[in-house]
Amino acid sequence: MTADAPLAERLAAAIAAQGPIPVAHYMAVATTHYYATRDPLGAEGDFITAPEISQMFGEMIGLWLADLWIRMDKPVCAYVELGPGRGTLAADALRAMAMVGLKPEVHLVETSSALRIKQAEKLAGAVWHDSLDTLPTDRPLLIVANEFFDCLPVHQIVRARGGWFQRVIGHDGLRFVTGYGKPVPVDVIPESLRSAPNGAVIETSPACVAIMQNLAQRLAAQGGIAAIIDYGYDGPKAGETVQAVLRHAFADPFEDPGERDVTAHVDFETLTAMAELCNTIVQGPVAQGVWLKHLGISERAAALSEISPPRADQFAGQLARLTGDDAMGRLFRVLAVRSRHWPEADGFGGVANAG
Ligand code: SAH
Repeated sequence: MTADAPLAERLAAAIAAQGPIPVAHYMAVATTHYYATRDPLGAEGDFITAPEISQMFGEMIGLWLADLWIRMDKPVCAYVELGPGRGTLAADALRAMAMVGLKPEVHLVETSSALRIKQAEKLAGAVWHDSLDTLPTDRPLLIVANEFFDCLPVHQIVRARGGWFQRVIGHDGLRFVTGYGKPVPVDVIPESLRSAPNGAVIETSPACVAIMQNLAQRLAAQGGIAAIIDYGYDGPKAGETVQAVLRHAFADPFEDPGERDVTAHVDFETLTAMAELCNTIVQGPVAQGVWLKHLGISERAAALSEISPPRADQFAGQLARLTGDDAMGRLFRVLAVRSRHWPEADGFGGVANAG
């Protein structure tokens, strides 16, 4: 088999040689290949994200960050985005920030060379990073991660035959199949879930927790704030959330690796616990729709409609998609993590969880 054989063939061969692999390993390999080889966003691609729906999304985030920066007496900061996609959110946010005089250095954590090319078209002067490790250490960070954490690999642990087992992905000669891997000691399972019935699935994401730890340690040491926006839940809970989308429809996550977008819901409670452990302050999560409305997105839509009356319906439609309960407004949630030396962030109803 050659190195340029399709990923599915190479992965099947590796499994035949070395045995089934954990779900997290499958997800990491599939996701890396998927993003490295395409721009999946937009009507022509597999899925659409909030910044691609409307310029208002990035603008609200830019103004939200600028408000904190002004209240901090305008320190020299860096704007950091994790998984910036086409660079649209950053471009919209930076334009809004510049209106009030905030012009930070731009640092992008992005592994996809295909998407780095798109980002460079919109973000002159940006600096790219393969991981968080090389981000600046000498200034406060204004961090944004929209639909980034859901890309990170999760392990699945399955209840079966009275025990718990790591779920693994094998190959039966025709297709990828799930199976039971190594037994997982019961003391690793959260107490509230230990009596779950056979077939129950628990997910854990060491990658999400490690990145949260890195971000929070930086915020504690350097100052600044992070907005983490994603779909998710308050864990730990039983339930399987690994999913795939292909051309705007749900698809089997364990079929055709690297050719569909495999993600998992984000466990906000575990992220919160790690951030608090690192001595940062957490606000939220709140529903994206509630947050954006607190920040004034309806007024922004009205202002844009006034500037361009023929597009009023379009702006109203975008507003409904970003904030509606039946659209992205409730499914997506916003978590803010900030330095103890930074003031309370806007949009969370004034209830900070100061720990
Ligand atoms: N934030 C953008 C794109 C979301 S898609 C938007 O809202 O439109 C996920 C993004 O994360 C892509 O840019 C993808 O290439 C990047 N990504 C996925 N896994 C990554 C990883 N492990 N490290 C860095 N970037 C990653």
